[in-house]
Amino acid sequence: MPLPAGVGAVLLDIEGTTTPLSFVRDVLFPYARARLEAACARAATDPRVARALATLRREHAHETGGDAPAFGTGAPYAAWLMEQDRKSTGLKELQGLIWEAGYVDGTLSASLFADVPAALASWRRAGVRLGVFSSGSVHAQRLLFAHTDHGDLTGCFELWADTTTGPKREAASYAAVAARFGLEPERILFLSDVVAELDAARAAGLATALLTRPGNPPVDPGPHAVHRDFATLL
Ligand SMILES: [Mg+2]
Repeated sequence: MPLPAGVGAVLLDIEGTTTPLSFVRDVLFPYARARLEAACARAATDPRVARALATLRREHAHETGGDAPAFGTGAPYAAWLMEQDRKSTGLKELQGLIWEAGYVDGTLSASLFADVPAALASWRRAGVRLGVFSSGSVHAQRLLFAHTDHGDLTGCFELWADTTTGPKREAASYAAVAARFGLEPERILFLSDVVAELDAARAAGLATALLTRPGNPPVDPGPHAVHRDFATLL
């Protein structure tokens, strides 16, 4: 199936859709984990680190579970949050700063599936508008696409949305994205590896397709079209 007729915009998930799940799990997370101490130690000289730690400290003050470590430099708590796979705003800010430093100094480069750069270019040539909707912060999304193993691709995208737009498993979030595009929801195709996200997008009226990329766990696609890569969506 090529791109469905009438589609004016493609909205892309990142992890498991444009980027291998293993890049996040095996590269980004360990990279941040190994640099938490050093990053937190920069709070006195780096105002952005200080702001992230202030957010983290507020979150720590509201911890209700008894097993969170003492705040200390912030690093033990950040490491504990990572081990729990908790969605923490302060942690995301801190990780974003660590990854930024790595992308800028060249020790990090974002992996994309091989068909992604050509597909983005092909859609743009056809006048299809492109957006990203990922639970990683917009800052982290822009960094990733600015430092890919295929160069800086940020110019392909006009819309960046993260969970400040709304949760990825709620229909209202996709209605909000459609409003930002200024398009009827059915003219937007949302691509993701997670069926619950596709269900939410479909409930908001968007067209949907499930990506079954290498490394993705097998899932029941339900009503969603299934694609192994973007080549069949051009
Ligand atoms: Mg995903």
